[in-house]
Amino acid sequence: MQKISCPYCKSNKMVFRGYRYNEKSKKRLRLCKSCGRKFTLRNVYFRMRFSPVEIKRAVSLYKKGFSLAEAKLRMEREGVRVSRWTILKWYKKYTKPEDR
Ligand SMILES: [Zn+2]
Repeated sequence: MQKISCPYCKSNKMVFRGYRYNEKSKKRLRLCKSCGRKFTLRNVYFRMRFSPVEIKRAVSLYKKGFSLAEAKLRMEREGVRVSRWTILKWYKKYTKPEDR
């Protein structure tokens, strides 16, 4: 079974708070006991684990000429654990071909 944590504060203390309905389906609504926010599993999957600032930082390192391994290492030193492939994915997603 996979571990589910709060998309806002990463806590895994949560309780079920009924269901959230939309036009297509109903989703189990969870309430985080740490920060008090409600979320559904969909939020967990669709919300990235990294902040836009962190993503920008990693992409800019790679653009500056650091290798993926170096960019990864620098991010780690700043407290962000990210894989090389994730950085590459961000790079492809967030930079235009003409900027590369
Ligand atoms: Zn939370």
